[in-house]
Amino acid sequence: MQNNTQHKTQQHIAFIGLGNMGAPMALNLLKQAYTLKVFDLSAAAMKLLADAGAQAVESAQQAVAGADIVISMLPASRHVEGLYLGEQGILPQIADGALIIDCSTIAAQTSQKMAQAAQARGLSMIDAPVSGGTGGAQAGTLTFIVGGDAASLERARPVLNAMGKNIFHAGTHGAGQTAKICNNMLLGILMAGTAEALALGAANGLDPKVLSDIMSKSSGRNWALELYNPYPGVMDNVPASRNYQGGFGVDLMHKDLGLAAEAALASQAATPMGELVRNLYGMHSKAGAGGKDFSSILELLRK
Ligand code: NAD
Repeated sequence: MQNNTQHKTQQHIAFIGLGNMGAPMALNLLKQAYTLKVFDLSAAAMKLLADAGAQAVESAQQAVAGADIVISMLPASRHVEGLYLGEQGILPQIADGALIIDCSTIAAQTSQKMAQAAQARGLSMIDAPVSGGTGGAQAGTLTFIVGGDAASLERARPVLNAMGKNIFHAGTHGAGQTAKICNNMLLGILMAGTAEALALGAANGLDPKVLSDIMSKSSGRNWALELYNPYPGVMDNVPASRNYQGGFGVDLMHKDLGLAAEAALASQAATPMGELVRNLYGMHSKAGAGGKDFSSILELLRK
């Protein structure tokens, strides 16, 4: 046990992107005795991590100096590409032999491009997008969906285990992203469908809590209904019961549905349900809900 702890403290991790997901993930690494240098554009996020024992630094460049492992958890492709390959890109600053783990949900093509650029510099990189929401990030029970070579995944495994419970190797670079957007397209469809059913029941006089109990033990049961109920007041500790604050943003879900649509176009796959729900989330965002949790799609459907 002592050797294990010593090994962890000797490994220096740079963690960039401390939002709804990144902050609790980084906190779990601290709890597991890893040494962390962190950076985010938000001062509040930096303070939270500094108070918990991380070294909060002034730039991503400073964070990666001397790091053995670099973890990024940013919103979208353009942020990840900017961080590593942009004008002030950190790729040249990362120490030889370091491992890069990008946990953001981004385009598979971007992950492939980043991995190639890392390889050209003699660095290993894997895409490791996550599932499990902010609750899973806090509890350390995330599912990691990894794309990249098996040896790099084995190097990453102890660190991923400190933040998650399930680790899947989806295939080569970008495969983690492809699996993740398939999952999130289904999640978007399930959330919109669950909200629609609850709104229908409420409009016809049912108590949404009673209806949720019934459907949870019937054939309509699903993750959105049982663990992330979109109807305010049905469940504690979900965004619906705190005015849809925190959680997984409407704009992030809309981004993921856009990635699914791009993948469908590129492969000529039929995704009519994904397209419908992408348009619903687009309308919801345009109506001003972009920053709310994605379960707020109920507001678009409720009377
Ligand atoms: P978020 O918007 O809460 O956090 C993103 C953070 O990145 C912010 O704190 C922002 O300040 C920071 N940031 C942006 N650009 C930066 C830069 N150049 N340098 C440093 N920091 C920068 O987003 P989130 O909910 O934490 O999601 C992050 C990723 O995880 C997204 O790709 C999302 O799709 C994915 N994801 C989110 C959830 C969820 O439930 N929230 C679940 C699974 C996957």
